[in-house]
Amino acid sequence: MSQHILVLGCGPAAAVTSLGLQHLGYRVTVLGLLRPYPVTEGISDRVYQALASSGLHSALETVSPPVARSAIWNGTSRRANTERLLFRPVFDAAVLDDLRNQGVRVEQVRVHSFAAADQRVVKTIAGGQLRNWQADFVVDARGRAAGRHSAGLAKLERVRGPETVSLACCWDSDPNAAFSAVVSVEEGWLWLARTATGRLFTQFTTRASQLDLATKSDIPALIAARLESVTPGALPVANLVNASAPLARSSTAILVDNPVQDGYIRIGDAAMAVDPLSGNGIFQSLSSALVAPAVINTILRRPEDAELARQFYRRRLHHLFYRFARIGRDFYQSESRWESSSFWRDRRCWPDQLAVHPERDTVLGTAPRPVLNEGFIELKSVLLTADQPLGIWRVDGREVTRQQM
Ligand SMILES: Cc1cc2nc3c(=O)[nH]c(=O)nc-3n(C[C@H](O)[C@H](O)[C@H](O)COP(=O)(O)OP(=O)(O)OC[C@H]3O[C@@H](n4cnc5c(N)ncnc54)[C@H](O)[C@@H]3O)c2cc1C
Repeated sequence: MSQHILVLGCGPAAAVTSLGLQHLGYRVTVLGLLRPYPVTEGISDRVYQALASSGLHSALETVSPPVARSAIWNGTSRRANTERLLFRPVFDAAVLDDLRNQGVRVEQVRVHSFAAADQRVVKTIAGGQLRNWQADFVVDARGRAAGRHSAGLAKLERVRGPETVSLACCWDSDPNAAFSAVVSVEEGWLWLARTATGRLFTQFTTRASQLDLATKSDIPALIAARLESVTPGALPVANLVNASAPLARSSTAILVDNPVQDGYIRIGDAAMAVDPLSGNGIFQSLSSALVAPAVINTILRRPEDAELARQFYRRRLHHLFYRFARIGRDFYQSESRWESSSFWRDRRCWPDQLAVHPERDTVLGTAPRPVLNEGFIELKSVLLTADQPLGIWRVDGREVTRQQM
């Protein structure tokens, strides 16, 4: 009988890891509920391709064709590239179809609690009934809802960026071309996305402590006021009516210090959630979800390399998190107005002042480092450079040597 793995949550990270584990011969059960909030998100072509390679074809049928994307930032307006829009409730439901179609067992239940990590028992609740599930390994993919506790263990240490909240709602607007736009305003930034149906999703991201919000029903007026502060005519929106679905989501950047422990791993946002300004949250969640199957496979089938696999996973997430955080910081710095606004001040200096990339990349030497090879994490000789401190093992399928650099 193959080993059994429980995957908690049913977002994109859960789906990609579940399919990867199934491919490696594990029996996988997904225990998750669909996210309750009706939000629109944007993905790049790179993410679209990664989801396609992972086999999420039904989910991708719900995604829009590329739409024009613009940025109104630091007082100037420019056309950026394109992005595809997805309405998460529809996309997420189709992700479940993809999993079921590919033979993964999916149970739509709420994860209630864990027993101690070494027993690997998860309690779920559905229709008032508690049920125990036992597994050889538990994957926590519950997104930001995973919180600070792990399987019966002490609270996890976490790095947190400036405390941030995003408010959103939808509107009916004049049917017009689909578009998306990011717009800086004094206390934060707006993201707008309109699909071809004329439905406009608006999101305002600001300091968590900056809000003076009595109830969720105040959100549309608050967003409308920010929209009015944008130069008239800069955005292709008019006649906003019928505000609906107001919601508030935490959007603080968070990195869990120790995302993999005995019999338990966190993936996706549960391990590392990035600032939504990057528009790259799903991409980041896939970066852990795609490598997690090899990490788990090594821990279970080559226990002598378990620590190597854990080290690989921790270092990789740490590296990606800080690289993304610094890219975000540089983007915040490129908005030079509003010196006195604490929203902008805090984000222009977090996480530090280190450059994203060194001015000139230099080769530091070769050294043995963990790499992903055919479903396992193995130690190989890699080339270390200032820009690639985790090392480069292969380019185009060929091993890299010092002489090639
Ligand atoms: C304001 C904001 C805007 C964003 N915009 C974008 C964007 O435009 N583009 C982009 O790429 N990313 C965006 N993101 C990030 C994106 O939403 C996440 O990075 C991505 O969804 C993470 O995927 P995941 O699978 O790790 O977690 P999630 O997609 O959050 O999935 C977690 C799953 O676990 C389930 N779950 C949670 N708790 C339980 C429980 N107790 N029992 C059972 N099930 C449970 C949830 O219902 C959900 O199905 C945004 C994030 C925020 C906060």
